[in-house]
Amino acid sequence: MMGTERYDRQIRIPQLGPDGQQRLARSRVLVVGAGGLGSAALLYLAAAGVGTIGIADGDSVELSNLNRQILHRTADVGVAKVVSAARALADLNPDVSVTTYCERLDLDRAIDLARAHDLLVDATDGFASKYLLNEAAVRSGRPLVHAGVEGLMGQLALLAVPGGPCLRCIFPEPPSEPASARPVLGATAGVLGALQAAEAIKFLAGMGERGGTSVLVVDLLALQLRRLRAERDPQCPICGPR
Ligand SMILES: [Zn+2]
Repeated sequence: MMGTERYDRQIRIPQLGPDGQQRLARSRVLVVGAGGLGSAALLYLAAAGVGTIGIADGDSVELSNLNRQILHRTADVGVAKVVSAARALADLNPDVSVTTYCERLDLDRAIDLARAHDLLVDATDGFASKYLLNEAAVRSGRPLVHAGVEGLMGQLALLAVPGGPCLRCIFPEPPSEPASARPVLGATAGVLGALQAAEAIKFLAGMGERGGTSVLVVDLLALQLRRLRAERDPQCPICGPR
């Protein structure tokens, strides 16, 4: 590991310490989606010194992304999001090894990539992608930090850990998708993406006690947080016995 001055303020956290920092440096995280959630999650994961970060996204930057996708700049419009994202992370922290996958993942590919990483961050938009990534997490045995945002609402959960529920346990049916582009305040994606980074860092560094799984529901309009307990469904078609 390179000099630790960059990480001084977090190494001072007793639950992290030098050992936790070394665990982060050895960790490999795959972030699927370099959009609003991914922007905040990726910046904080790279800043914290996660050693290897994979970024999967098949899209290019559009002007209408820039209210929330703070990895990308106006000059990046038309550039592949993974290219723009990798450049931003390299500028922030050259210690981090970044690998880009400029593609839309199918299930087999997602499972292969999951197996090459320690943890998955779901920064996708839309439940088809979220279900696919959830199945890849279950099949590969990798934990999944799920989040979703709409308007000023968001939700967060650490899923597919041993004994815990997967996304299908919690949402057996996909919620209805909006007919056109989903409304999102950029700050909502930032809050949830930062929470995803914090959950990933805690898991990888071995910080804190792992209790049962809960879903955190964030309502920024009312400025309220709610924690709902989430249980595994023994009959779940994805993580239950087949
Ligand atoms: Zn399940």
